Amino acid sequence: MDLQLTDKVAVITGGSVGIGLAIARGLAAEGVHLALCARDGKRLRAVADTIKTDFPVRVIAVPADIATPGGVALLAGAVDAEFGGADILINNAGTGSEETILEAPDERWQAYWELHVMAAVRLARALAPGMKARGGGVILHNASICATQPLGYEPIYNVTKAALVMFSKCLANELIGDGIRVNAVNPGLVMTPDWQKTAKQLTAGTDTSWEAYLQKVADDNAPIGRFAEPEEIADLFVFLCSPRASYAVGSTYYIDGGWLRTT
Ligand code: NDP
Repeated sequence: MDLQLTDKVAVITGGSVGIGLAIARGLAAEGVHLALCARDGKRLRAVADTIKTDFPVRVIAVPADIATPGGVALLAGAVDAEFGGADILINNAGTGSEETILEAPDERWQAYWELHVMAAVRLARALAPGMKARGGGVILHNASICATQPLGYEPIYNVTKAALVMFSKCLANELIGDGIRVNAVNPGLVMTPDWQKTAKQLTAGTDTSWEAYLQKVADDNAPIGRFAEPEEIADLFVFLCSPRASYAVGSTYYIDGGWLRTT
């Protein structure tokens, strides 16, 4: 299937590892030029160099904290200077949490709100007018199954991801008249270095291997009995970026190995 993405420009937050990196490589394989953002500039630049070696596309690395207005302005300015705007925005940067509602201070709620919601709000304001001028575009939000089916240990993650899904719906309604399609994706368990790090920490000094710990997480939650590889999630993002997904507007797509316990 020709995805008709050659020479489009995509901005990906959190593009240095995990799902964001897999989306970056998936889009690059389709001939999409990239602006990648993450805070760790060394890792980001190494990733950008590898993608440039592997695929005939232009890639810029923009180290920035996307949870701040200044970080968003930095990214938008770099995109404008290099590409004169963007056709695709992937709001992917995010991270899990662990707290109780009664103990977490206001500052913690605010920090996740800035990262999971305000980054997407500010990036829409910064990039959507340019997309409209280019004849349309695509904005995708990487939320989580936890936006609907919460995990008990991370209430702030659950709440802010749910807000991101509603933001995605509202933005879709506001922008479809400009030819900009907005959708959200809710992944389930995805094998990333972060999951492996956590599993290693939790099993250090116990009789359980980190691999066995993660297999139990998969067995307990996902009927498919395993984590997804990031590439399995990225393929859905790449398709949703394509004009071949032209009727996909304002929806939320679950990709969770059967974990969602309802229809
Ligand atoms: P990782 O933790 O592997 O990567 C997160 C990425 O976001 C990194 O590139 C990180 O780079 C970047 N990032 C984090 N905070 C900021 C910030 N303030 N400013 C700029 N960049 C930032 O995440 P995953 O690949 O696991 O997850 C990606 C998205 O998918 C997240 O939104 C997550 O909530 C969601 N998700 C993940 C699932 C999973 O099982 N893995 C399941 C469902 C949803 P750096 O640290 O250098 O800034």
